[in-house]
Amino acid sequence: MKIIKQISDMQRVIKIEKQQGKKIGFVPTMGFLHEGHQTLLQEARKNNDIVVLSIFVNPLQFGPNEDLDAYPRDFERDEEIAKLRGVDFLFYPSVEEMYKENRTTIIKVEQRVDVLCGKHRPGHFDGVATVVMKLFQIVSPDAAYFGMKDAQQVAVIEGLITDYHLPIELVKVGTVREEDGLAKSSRNVYLTEEERTKAPSLYKSLTLGKSLLEDGEKVHTVKQKMEEDILLQTGYKAEYVEIYAYPTLQELEKVKEAESVIIAIAVKFSKARLIDNIVFSYNKGE
Ligand code: AMP
Repeated sequence: MKIIKQISDMQRVIKIEKQQGKKIGFVPTMGFLHEGHQTLLQEARKNNDIVVLSIFVNPLQFGPNEDLDAYPRDFERDEEIAKLRGVDFLFYPSVEEMYKENRTTIIKVEQRVDVLCGKHRPGHFDGVATVVMKLFQIVSPDAAYFGMKDAQQVAVIEGLITDYHLPIELVKVGTVREEDGLAKSSRNVYLTEEERTKAPSLYKSLTLGKSLLEDGEKVHTVKQKMEEDILLQTGYKAEYVEIYAYPTLQELEKVKEAESVIIAIAVKFSKARLIDNIVFSYNKGE
């Protein structure tokens, strides 16, 4: 495995691989790798000749009061995991390298961001789309792997790929969970011991919401019941509990056709803000 820190070096090695007809699979991350990231890497390894992993904590996607400085980092451990998972190139640029010159443009996401995390983290998805676009230009992948743990991010990237005609296959990977249902996340290390015992209730609440919806309960009632459940189980008021059509993230009532539905939830614990969701097919029965 080769560690690459310069954009120009990354572009040079990829060009050589591509000239040899190699298929490039790309897994962008912010590091502090867990089994969720590793599943993405495994999928990429199965279906590509070359696997590129990027580790970059992107300042552009953090708000002023968010956890940019406190975001967990452990490059040496990540390097070992990457080797074990068969990564060929580990792209590990500095902030200065990625945002070298005065930026003259930014990608502004115009749809799918007025709800869920987009609503609560203004500018977050502009930062995500901008860095992902930059990384796509640097790595030129044939396929890029994203986790459904961040389902809104997947919806945004799907839009980006379509809007800019990027010849990249978006591979969506299901959420990897702990045995008790808690979605794996780099931020889980910031849960206190007591919060850790309560955190699986996010997923339990999502499955409760799903069964209520499938039993024909109204969206409004389902949300209310989930909110009550979260407060009772965790002692925290959910930042949001939302139900939308997926991936358009439009209100279910406005959607005519049967399609996928997302139930999503965010809860701010004392230090960690956790998000989770489930996406499933939904037939309105009309
Ligand atoms: P992050 O390092 O948090 O930016 O995540 C990098 C990629 O890993 C994103 O595509 C995430 O959606 C994905 N990911 C994070 N956690 C999980 C998980 N528990 N299961 C599957 N994918 C995940």
